Amino acid sequence: MTPDPFPTALDPAGRTLGAEELAALTTVIASARLNASLGGTMVTELERGMGRLYGVEHAVACSSGTAALHLAVAAVDPEPGDEIIVPPLTDFGSVIPILAQNAVPVFADVDALTGQLSPQSVRACLSERTRAIIAVHLFGGPAPVAELRALADEQGLVLIEDCAQAYLTTVPGSGRLAGTLGHIGCFSLQQYKHITCGDGGLAITADPVMARRMRLFGDKGWPRDSGTRDHLFLGLNYRMTELQGAVAQAQLPKLADVVASRRERAGQLRDALVELPGVSVPAHHEHHSYWFFPVVLDPEAMGGENHEVARALRAAGIPANAGYLTQPLYCYPVLSEGRTYGRSRFPLTCPPARKEWRYELGLCPSAERLIDHTLVAVAWNEHYSPTHVDRIADAFRTTRDLLTG
Ligand SMILES: *Cc1c(COP(=O)(O)O)cnc(C)c1O
Repeated sequence: MTPDPFPTALDPAGRTLGAEELAALTTVIASARLNASLGGTMVTELERGMGRLYGVEHAVACSSGTAALHLAVAAVDPEPGDEIIVPPLTDFGSVIPILAQNAVPVFADVDALTGQLSPQSVRACLSERTRAIIAVHLFGGPAPVAELRALADEQGLVLIEDCAQAYLTTVPGSGRLAGTLGHIGCFSLQQYKHITCGDGGLAITADPVMARRMRLFGDKGWPRDSGTRDHLFLGLNYRMTELQGAVAQAQLPKLADVVASRRERAGQLRDALVELPGVSVPAHHEHHSYWFFPVVLDPEAMGGENHEVARALRAAGIPANAGYLTQPLYCYPVLSEGRTYGRSRFPLTCPPARKEWRYELGLCPSAERLIDHTLVAVAWNEHYSPTHVDRIADAFRTTRDLLTG
């Protein structure tokens, strides 16, 4: 008998898309108002719902998670060559907005066990040109944003939280949701995330000035509420359509169950793996929203490194990958070869930067070790059954037995 396939974010059995999304889409089509700024209601409903869910005054919807981060960086309004600190173990969407606003990404290392941005490393990256920190809540686990907010306040910096993998993640010791400790929190509605409308993004903030700047930046710098056609500063068209909004506002109320179910199944895997030598499971279980279930290996005790372990797990039918990325973000050609605008390398040049920026292997040893040697990321889904989880746990045990001989 072939075992039940693992549900994924790419098939109906691994999603929460259904009648509610269809009904909302039908409403939009029937209304003929597909553009949100011309009398639509769905995107407005999504923004209100997100504001309520997170207890913040302002939520700005846009076309992707990368766009949401770009709104946030645009709200910082860096001078060309100013610096924004970011981890190298994340989606490239965390970095694109920095370069797009002509700022320099400065890579701070991560914690060797959690993969989250290290406040000490951030401190070591500070310069007189630093303007902001982008903290990524990797895999749905909490980045240390309380410490990072204190550091940002001490230094007069903006803290942006990249919550694309971390809906309803909570921050230990604060009783608050990830995305509300920084000045701005950014979310993605891309296909692989906890909830989706294909592509889409949200930026939340309590700051009315930043909210206004983000809204204008995503709409050509056009202050529509003034009633006149005007362009106050350089902006883009990052608007979300009513079709995306319809699906997203129907997905939002399902989020609590999605996260609760992922956390419950993850608890089962934690319990099964916690005593297994050679593996460590996520700390902060109660705070985690489990976009992935990350396992960090002690290769010695496991009998092998992450690539070998992931290969064995996949051979056993488990959706696991080694390292999450193939290399840290600073090793991709866009940065290692400075492929930004033509052949200029701008803004990684002096001027406008304070020095010529070069990116190469060795910059962030803990991130590199996670990618190359210790991190195994198990795909996670709210529709896993206890049997799916048992199979994953068994495969880890069998793999260790095999490798330790
Ligand atoms: C997915 C993701 C992004 C980018 O979101 P898109 O909607 O794909 O543009 C940014 N940061 C992180 C951590 C992500 O996982």
